Amino acid sequence: MKYEKTIGLEIHVRIKSETKMFCGCKNAVELASEPNMHVCPVCMGFPGALPALNAEVIRLGVIGGMLMDCEVNTHSRFDRKSYFYPDLPTSFQTTQMYETIVGKGKVRVMVNGELREYEIHHMHLENDAGKLTHAGGKTLCDYNRAGSPLMEIVTEPVFHDKEEVMEFLRELQKMFRAWGVSDADMEKWQLRCDVNISLAPEWSGELGTRVELKNLNSFSAIGRAIDGESHRQERLLLSGKHIEQETRGWDDDRGMSVTQRSKEDAMDYRYFPEPDLLPLDLPEDFIEGCRQSLVELPIDKRLKYLNEYDLKDDDARILTADKDLSDYFEALVSLTNDPKKSCSYITTILLALINEVEEVSSIKDVKFEVKELARVIELVNADELSSTNSKQVVEELVRNGGSADLIIDENNLRQKNDMSALESIVDEVIASCAPQVADYKSGNQNIFWFFVGQCMKASKGQGNPKIFNELLKKKLG
Ligand SMILES: [Zn+2]
Repeated sequence: MKYEKTIGLEIHVRIKSETKMFCGCKNAVELASEPNMHVCPVCMGFPGALPALNAEVIRLGVIGGMLMDCEVNTHSRFDRKSYFYPDLPTSFQTTQMYETIVGKGKVRVMVNGELREYEIHHMHLENDAGKLTHAGGKTLCDYNRAGSPLMEIVTEPVFHDKEEVMEFLRELQKMFRAWGVSDADMEKWQLRCDVNISLAPEWSGELGTRVELKNLNSFSAIGRAIDGESHRQERLLLSGKHIEQETRGWDDDRGMSVTQRSKEDAMDYRYFPEPDLLPLDLPEDFIEGCRQSLVELPIDKRLKYLNEYDLKDDDARILTADKDLSDYFEALVSLTNDPKKSCSYITTILLALINEVEEVSSIKDVKFEVKELARVIELVNADELSSTNSKQVVEELVRNGGSADLIIDENNLRQKNDMSALESIVDEVIASCAPQVADYKSGNQNIFWFFVGQCMKASKGQGNPKIFNELLKKKLG
């Protein structure tokens, strides 16, 4: 018997607003140098303190929803989810249980070179809790994060393997970063994920009992958790046991999931409409303003690079991984009109140098103008610069900036195409290499590249290897 796994996700994404969701405290938990720096009576839940909804959170949330092609609800409202825990000073979370800001949508993702679509059930807004640190038998409470805005994205159960989940999360990360909705850095808990997994016999057309794995915050842990939990369920099903509906935690060190709570201990959160906030009615012009900021999505760029520019999917993926890089690539293409060569100079030369040169850590830091790289490509295409020497020019540009033409002239790198000068070099090489010429003529074809190499050396790397090639073929017969 084969089992198919079905996976749904609940994803929490920290919205990158200047201030928290309902107060004026800085929403900068990662930047806070000390605990409890960014707190006030509202996010600390002091009696009588009233929340004031942050318009920027709404704007970024609506854009986040639009990026996932979701319906935006002009009317939504907030509810209180009541529970007591030391990291939640208000004793309730302000969330959207019944009428959410964003409804159904879909996200297009490339998985193994194929375009797929994954449905979103809804997205709602809510605030985060603080952070507890347990040390030396004591618990320390830090409320810098309390009241930070979150989007909770709930997908339909539409994934069947971990690659789909990973690519989907990467696509969200790309879009949210490009539009400044969130930095979505999993290590900083700006994006964390609950994974629901169920197994059912293949082709049964049914969903099995669902088990929820809570709070996964790295791509690799998500992959291991999906594998580990689906193996656990498969073992149970194969031995005739049934799966309990429950919430489990993933213990990454032990490589297994452990029970946290069963369906029977489900909490009663006593949801009720938030009495201190009015329902949220979004004006049409506000929604329209958000929509206007939605230019080409990363997936549309990727499809354009594949279909119009004829790039390989791997290259299209790399170039669209971050907005600065795809902006740079497009600026370069607009100057060179040569997408393939522009892509290869960026992906194979420029990115490798950025990795290598210490002072430069991203495409934003390069010290030269994009037109200089376009000039390098233009000269290579015009046979005035060899591709070998072009790498040296790009390296110099990355290290010290400047102008491509100046670097080429200072280092004598301009390719010589002067036929008669190159011909005399070829003649000299042939005259000085009599034994190799004899060897070649007696049938050793492999030695041909030795002559090309000798000509390049004699021309100090400046001769056009194509012309040497032709002249040598003609003269050696
Ligand atoms: Zn506050």
